[in-house]
Amino acid sequence: MTTEDSVRFCPQCGSASVDFSTLVVGGLSGAHCNGCRWEGSAEELLLVPIQHEFQFGKESIVAEMMNDVRQLLSGSLGVPYLKFLLKWGFVKGEVTDIGGTVDRKQFARYLARIGHAVLMAVIDERTKQEKKKNESSS
Ligand SMILES: [Zn+2]
Repeated sequence: MTTEDSVRFCPQCGSASVDFSTLVVGGLSGAHCNGCRWEGSAEELLLVPIQHEFQFGKESIVAEMMNDVRQLLSGSLGVPYLKFLLKWGFVKGEVTDIGGTVDRKQFARYLARIGHAVLMAVIDERTKQEKKKNESSS
């Protein structure tokens, strides 16, 4: 049996350390991040669906993987992404003066989304591989 579950992440910094309420009060459900102090609605949080039979059952595993991806992106791997975003005008700033001209908050939001997409793609591909394996063994 497959149990559908999901882990939520901050849309700004990608942290899994988010508090949220699914209780809707006055049409709004509140959420905030303990990492970067982001505040918004629970619907804005990034969702990573998990299927327990593919050994991603524990929320902490996905959260740790997300942290790994974040570390990759905040390190040297983030630079080529920044150059790409600057080149195509997604982030405003000068390549020659990144520290002084780039809107870090805006860039961080893109990085969080990129990290999320990377993790989703990896989990999705793993799921497909597992399905294939199960089909051929039965
Ligand atoms: Zn955050």
